[in-house]
Amino acid sequence: MSENGYFGVFGGKYVPEVLRRPIDELEKGFYEAIQDPSFLEELKTLQDNFIGRPTPLLFAKNATADLGGAKIYIKMEGLANTGAHKINNAIGQALLVKRMGKTRVIAETGAGQHGVATAAACAHLGIPCEIYMGEVDVRRQQPNVATMEMYGAKVIPVRSGSKTLKDAINEAMRDWASHPDTTHYLIGSALGPAPFPDMVRIFQSVIGREVKEQAAAKNLDIAALVACVGGGSNAIGFFEPYLEATAPRLIGAEAGGIGTGYGENAARMTGNAAREGIVHGYKSRFLLTEDGQMAETRSISAGLDYPGINPQFADLGVSGRVEFMAIPDKEVLEALQYFARKEGVFFALESAHAAAAALRIVKEIPKDKAIIINMSGRGDKDIFITSPVFRNRQWKEFLKSELTRLESGADIYHAKN
Ligand SMILES: *Cc1c(COP(=O)(O)O)cnc(C)c1O
Repeated sequence: MSENGYFGVFGGKYVPEVLRRPIDELEKGFYEAIQDPSFLEELKTLQDNFIGRPTPLLFAKNATADLGGAKIYIKMEGLANTGAHKINNAIGQALLVKRMGKTRVIAETGAGQHGVATAAACAHLGIPCEIYMGEVDVRRQQPNVATMEMYGAKVIPVRSGSKTLKDAINEAMRDWASHPDTTHYLIGSALGPAPFPDMVRIFQSVIGREVKEQAAAKNLDIAALVACVGGGSNAIGFFEPYLEATAPRLIGAEAGGIGTGYGENAARMTGNAAREGIVHGYKSRFLLTEDGQMAETRSISAGLDYPGINPQFADLGVSGRVEFMAIPDKEVLEALQYFARKEGVFFALESAHAAAAALRIVKEIPKDKAIIINMSGRGDKDIFITSPVFRNRQWKEFLKSELTRLESGADIYHAKN
């Protein structure tokens, strides 16, 4: 747990005066809720029945035999409802919203994954939900926009600034400040002012608690846990039961993108442009320009493409408890293909960073030990990114023929009826 919202020198709540009261109220509401057995029981029921927990811990036996090092296990978060770990946090906060008597949820989303999880959680609990999304992202991420709308959420395109995630966050903060009595701002990663980093970690820690039990039942001697780190929510939840101990090794894989130069990656712990700063209400390590603005970032995975990182990870990285590796896009794609073919497990591009980090170290670890990869999400959502890479010509032909077919007025449903 943080100390008054701080992890070492990182964290805090750097918010404008108008957000003081809603943040204090949220803090009080959250810490009361997690002491209340009836809240925890309701949460557990949702985790079991709505999310589909526990998610399995799969032995990757073909990869293990092929590589000849430590036994590789995969925590299958991608099997959770909506396809990734983000639902663990979304349903936790949505349940808190009901308890606190708020009547409306807002959220920000970049690629749309958090928007999808929030929209699903709100639909399930019957809470109206509005999602801020940069206009550029709305255009690029239509499949997720369609899914959010399918769950009944309203997607609001943000036209300020660069029209991407950081502008969506600013707009959501402004909305929250204007409607603090009715509205909860459901932040999607372990980021933002206190109490969000503690709250999101606690809702995601169900991953780590399950892993600990599953590993004990299989008698595993765990040498390392490996997870990808965007904002940091899947990794911090996965590592949670082990943070205070000195073993196993905890490894965070961040986006190495296409290189080490400015704007070529999103490496907040290992990158050249990484420094301390205060952005979006918290102090952490950020990729910033010389004059302190958020830098450009780049990654093949939308979920890791963010200039900030969970403040607890900034602290754990500085202290050395968590090791960070930047994984380049090319290595990510190789790991993705490797596990798809060897195990029939299709990693999300984000999670494939963790898979690649595991592939880097597995041969150094003795055979009687285990290494566990958190597959934070499954890769179906990435088909518009992986197809142009692996089968460019066929994909372009497909898109062209779809467009021609739709423009000819042949809409499948009506045409067939
Ligand atoms: C959003 C996302 C991430 C990155 O977010 P964290 O908060 O760092 O976990 C990782 N994996 C998947 C599948 C995602 O959708």
